[in-house]
Amino acid sequence: MDIVVPDEFKYLYVTNADRPVVKIPDPVLRKVCNEVTAVTKKTDELIKSMLHALRLANGIGLAAPQMGSLERIIIVAPAGTKPLVLVNPVITEKHGEQIGQEGCLSIPGLYGDVLRAESVEVQAFDRKGKPVSYEMAGLPARVVQHEVDHLDGVLFIDKVDMATLHWSHPETDDEVE
Ligand code: ZN
Repeated sequence: MDIVVPDEFKYLYVTNADRPVVKIPDPVLRKVCNEVTAVTKKTDELIKSMLHALRLANGIGLAAPQMGSLERIIIVAPAGTKPLVLVNPVITEKHGEQIGQEGCLSIPGLYGDVLRAESVEVQAFDRKGKPVSYEMAGLPARVVQHEVDHLDGVLFIDKVDMATLHWSHPETDDEVE
């Protein structure tokens, strides 16, 4: 789907120090990311820049390709929780269904309902390279599914219920990933 950004939202589609997240139609968002083979100082710097970008944008999740890096790293940070950094995340189990609104820091201002699994089990490595696994339900599960999709070049607009797709100014408290 080609997204035509309305004039009044175009100011959100710049990339600068205040808005470091990559926006559509940057092709990096459509690439499949590579597994991280070793957690190095460079990995840590990327993670720090992701955490910074997420704070600046007041987002609830972010994936490395949104910083222009084709590495399998995501951050999951639903409001009020400590950001969870996952390296090489793999969703190993999915249960149930939930429908909820999503947005994306790479498609600012656009929102719509997406069907996701209600709960997931995810296996990954933490930012020190230690294996971790989590069971998540509800919003955290939704964020993980949205971010893991980013690592495969998939965006929420590929899965959205078209009838619910709409533009809204993100200064309101919509949650974005
Ligand atoms: Zn996103």
